[in-house]
Amino acid sequence: MAKGENVNQHGASMEKLVSLCKSRGFIYPSSEIYGGLSATWDYGPLGVEIKQNIQDAWWKEMVRRHDNIVGLDAAIMMHPRTWEASGHVDNFSDPLVDCKKCKNRFREDTLRKMRLDKDIDDALCPECGGELTEVRQFNLMFATQLGPVKDAGSLVYLRPETAQGIFVNFKNVVNSSRVKIPFGIAQVGKAFRNEITTGNFIFRTCEFEQMEMQYFVRPGSEDLVFEEWKTKRMDWYVDSIGIRSERLRFNEHGPKELAHYAKTAFDIEYNYPFGWQELEGIHSRTDYDLRRHEQFCGKDMSYLDAETNSRYIPYVIETSSGLTRSVLVALMDAYHEEKLDGKGEVRTVLHLHPNIAPVKVAVFPLVKKDGLSEMARRIEEGLREDFATFFDQRGAIGRRYRRMDEIGTPFCVTVDYETMDNRTVTLRLRDSMEQFRISVEGIADSIRRETLSYRRL
Ligand code: ATP
Repeated sequence: MAKGENVNQHGASMEKLVSLCKSRGFIYPSSEIYGGLSATWDYGPLGVEIKQNIQDAWWKEMVRRHDNIVGLDAAIMMHPRTWEASGHVDNFSDPLVDCKKCKNRFREDTLRKMRLDKDIDDALCPECGGELTEVRQFNLMFATQLGPVKDAGSLVYLRPETAQGIFVNFKNVVNSSRVKIPFGIAQVGKAFRNEITTGNFIFRTCEFEQMEMQYFVRPGSEDLVFEEWKTKRMDWYVDSIGIRSERLRFNEHGPKELAHYAKTAFDIEYNYPFGWQELEGIHSRTDYDLRRHEQFCGKDMSYLDAETNSRYIPYVIETSSGLTRSVLVALMDAYHEEKLDGKGEVRTVLHLHPNIAPVKVAVFPLVKKDGLSEMARRIEEGLREDFATFFDQRGAIGRRYRRMDEIGTPFCVTVDYETMDNRTVTLRLRDSMEQFRISVEGIADSIRRETLSYRRL
């Protein structure tokens, strides 16, 4: 990629973001000491924090805030019949084309688009002009074996989505908890897809994490419920994760994109440096999944509705978000380079919502001597119970602020000589760089207040 390319409106080129993520400990190329492994990434000390924070925010929104949504953590490896029932064995494939000369692989639909963009001859490779193979269907599921003997009976797949773990446990949840329709089951976990075209950092990887919720409803009520979830999910990205609304939009699946069992489907899309692409799918899936499992396992999947005294297979509204993709969106949306007035200095800042910032508050002594260091340490230790904190006493105070801006720390507290006299500190806000004098005892409350009223500049 040429320098300066791929820059989105607020200045986060992919290269700069990848480099910041590595140098500051968000995300590293996986097994780098061996030369790395294509499109796999490891989350470093700050990366695990932001990922966990996004997961927690999702869990809080979807499970804690609803008394009719419960959680689940199903196994990654499931009975292989699951994937026959779900349609993944027969249909979860991409059309694949190989170049016989440069050995590049393309998804046929991507190839078609590249040809249109570059105005290239139909039959040839867009990279080298070489001859292409016929189109083959390539199943995206990773197959492996369970147990010591490799035979047909040992074949299992790494799940390509978390949703099926929810469907196969539908009856278990109904029978073991007091849920009544409408109710939801939520799950966060890893999913695996042998993607043909990976790339754009953590946007599309073979191993990723999803946050999915299946909401079971009475047939006939699905359209209304679908609209409610559409609104709630979009609001969550803006209000809880701090993504700017103008960089998000809905995209409705047209008749050609719509899965054969789906009634309606909308994607929430983000405006990435490489264009508008999916962040979350919201699908009205009818009773397809439960009905298929009923056919394949031979067990009754119906629900007895005590209110209407009727038995039916519930309809499902699904909200399916990428956790790792949400990390990318949060970082990308937050990344900003700002020219500071009059000094010609550029400040790199991550405008992360305080809910998801890996470090919430940093505490600095102005100088190391005269007891300031010890006082700052005591304050930092006192805040640890409630917030992710960081203590730093190295270098000029301005440099310390910059280091925190770069990793998106929304609040910095500075202890100075006045603190020793009257127990007040300086609270500095990352986005506006405003500073206030507040009491040591009021730090936690101020942080909570600022977090609640946080609005992205
Ligand atoms: P895409 O069109 O981008 O491949 P999809 O339509 O296959 O996505 P879904 O099956 O609806 O995606 O999965 C739900 C969510 O899981 C997506 O919106 C995305 O956030 C995430 N996701 C899917 N595939 C990947 C992947 N290979 N890497 C990272 N995240 C993914």
